[in-house]
Amino acid sequence: MRWKGRTQSGNVEDRRGMSGGKIAAGGGIGTLAIVLIVWLLGGNPSQLINNMQSGPETGGADPAVIEAEAELAEFAGVVLKDTEDIWTVLFSQSGNTYKVPTLVLFSGAAESACGYSSSATGPFYCPGDEKVYIDLSFLADLQKKLGAHGDFAMAYIIAHEVGHHVQKLLGITDQLDQLRGRVDETEFNRNLVKLELQADFLAGVWAHHAQRTKNILEEGDIEEAMNAAEAVGDDRIQMQSQGYVVPDAFTHGTSEQRKTWFMRGFRTGDMSQGDTFSEN
Ligand SMILES: [Zn+2]
Repeated sequence: MRWKGRTQSGNVEDRRGMSGGKIAAGGGIGTLAIVLIVWLLGGNPSQLINNMQSGPETGGADPAVIEAEAELAEFAGVVLKDTEDIWTVLFSQSGNTYKVPTLVLFSGAAESACGYSSSATGPFYCPGDEKVYIDLSFLADLQKKLGAHGDFAMAYIIAHEVGHHVQKLLGITDQLDQLRGRVDETEFNRNLVKLELQADFLAGVWAHHAQRTKNILEEGDIEEAMNAAEAVGDDRIQMQSQGYVVPDAFTHGTSEQRKTWFMRGFRTGDMSQGDTFSEN
């Protein structure tokens, strides 16, 4: 993927290496201890953590790690900018306004309107605060696994999360949320899979238009992204109303389904082709 030196989004919230400045303001070690106790007892300490917005410091000061993460942060900013440009145009074409999401880069753990997440969660979108959360160490890990040719795979993951934001703006997430409790769990999970496949489709639509208008793709990029999707799995859905991470009891669709929907979006670039809910 061609990304070096291109414009980055201004909507990145970098929470990496945030230290406890706000913790001290909130009552020093006392607050932190209470948060931990509430957490250990299985409660939700989000109120307490709300103003802290802190993650652990970025580990040791290994310059190679710092440099690699800085590059990944820049990369994520460029991809986010690409999604902003494309979705702004596509929304305005249908008479809508695209409200850009924020990308939160964190290390270790992050607090969101959807609850408390450790890096083990992987990238996710929180409909409650309309932010995409990515642990850079997750991306660094992914890059290590994929090698030098994995950049478009990472772009695909970011575009998929932004796809969830598009679903939120279009009211699809809310519609699905209203099904909760009204249909049995199997049926609800089936719909969650369709939501995931549609996010893949939307990532494909984005790639189509990004390629057409910005020529971002290099030979083999699409194949690499599709292979990576199989290798690394997906985010876990976090639903606004639930307020915590939904156990990953459902699948995100078979890799064949995911590929099919991404490719349909990529080939057509046509939003009207993406009704994963009506199709089998
Ligand atoms: Zn997803």
